[in-house]
Amino acid sequence: MTGLMTLNQFTQLYDYLAGPMGCNFEDAPDEPDGMTWDCDETLNLTREWLEHHHLDVETNIAALQACGAWCDCEGAT
Ligand SMILES: [Zn+2]
Repeated sequence: MTGLMTLNQFTQLYDYLAGPMGCNFEDAPDEPDGMTWDCDETLNLTREWLEHHHLDVETNIAALQACGAWCDCEGAT
């Protein structure tokens, strides 16, 4: 069984969520936040990534939510 992802795996997830396949963060100097990104207010991308890497989805989702990450872009910031 796999449990919580390692720090190394979390870094990979972070890179995925922050990249073009994830929330696609881009600098946008004209925006109030200074950047734009895509987010559907879910952890669906995180779930897919966890499944793809054969990690325990519910355990890791629960851990992320405990840290205050309730959607993909919050996991990436
Ligand atoms: Zn979000």
